[in-house]
Amino acid sequence: MEYYSSQISQLIEQLSSLPGIGTKTAQRLAFHIIDMPKDRVEKLADTMVKARNTIRYCRQCLTLTDRELCPVCSNPKRNQKVIMVVENPRDMSAYEKTGKYEGVYHVLHGAISPMLGIGPGDIRLKELMHRLEKDVDEVIIATNSSLEGETTAMYISKLVKPTGIKVTRIASGVPVGGDLEYIDEVTLLRALEGRVEL
Ligand code: ZN
Repeated sequence: MEYYSSQISQLIEQLSSLPGIGTKTAQRLAFHIIDMPKDRVEKLADTMVKARNTIRYCRQCLTLTDRELCPVCSNPKRNQKVIMVVENPRDMSAYEKTGKYEGVYHVLHGAISPMLGIGPGDIRLKELMHRLEKDVDEVIIATNSSLEGETTAMYISKLVKPTGIKVTRIASGVPVGGDLEYIDEVTLLRALEGRVEL
C-alpha cells in the first residue's frame, strides 16, 4: 500500500540510497526538506549539482578538488619529496587538520581487499609508482590498520623498496580497524612521528 504520495516516496527512496542513511533518517530528512523554504531547497540542490560537476581528482595526488592541482600540491611550502599514501580524501583531511604535516599526499581511493575482490589494479597504485620516478625521499604509508589497510601497506612496501626510496609505515598507535578520520589529532601526530621504516 502506498503510504505517502509517490513524490515523497521517491524522495525517501533517493535519500535512503545514500551511505549511512536508513529509512527512518531518510523519512526525517524528506519531511525536513519539504518543510524548508523553497529557495533553500533550490540552493541545496544547486550546490550538490555544482559540486558534482566541478569537483575532480587532483592531477598529482588524486584527492578531490575543483582545480587542476589541489591546494596542498600547489603550495610551494610543502615538501614534494615526502609523499604520504592514504586510502581516501577523508584520511588526507584528517592529517591536514593536525596542521603539522609538511609533505604531500597520494590518495589511493580504496584498499586492497581480496574478500571484496578489490585487487592492486583497482586502486591508484600505478599513479603512485609514476610519481616515484621523480626525486622522492620518503613514502609514508598511512593506510588504515584494518586487514585491508595492512595488506595494502605490505603490497606498497614491496613495490617501492626496489626503487631505493625510503618506505615508512605510521605507528600502530592507531586502533586496529580504526578509520583514520575518526582518530583525534594527537593520536594521528603520534602515529606519524612514531613511523617505522619498512
Ligand atoms: Zn593534490
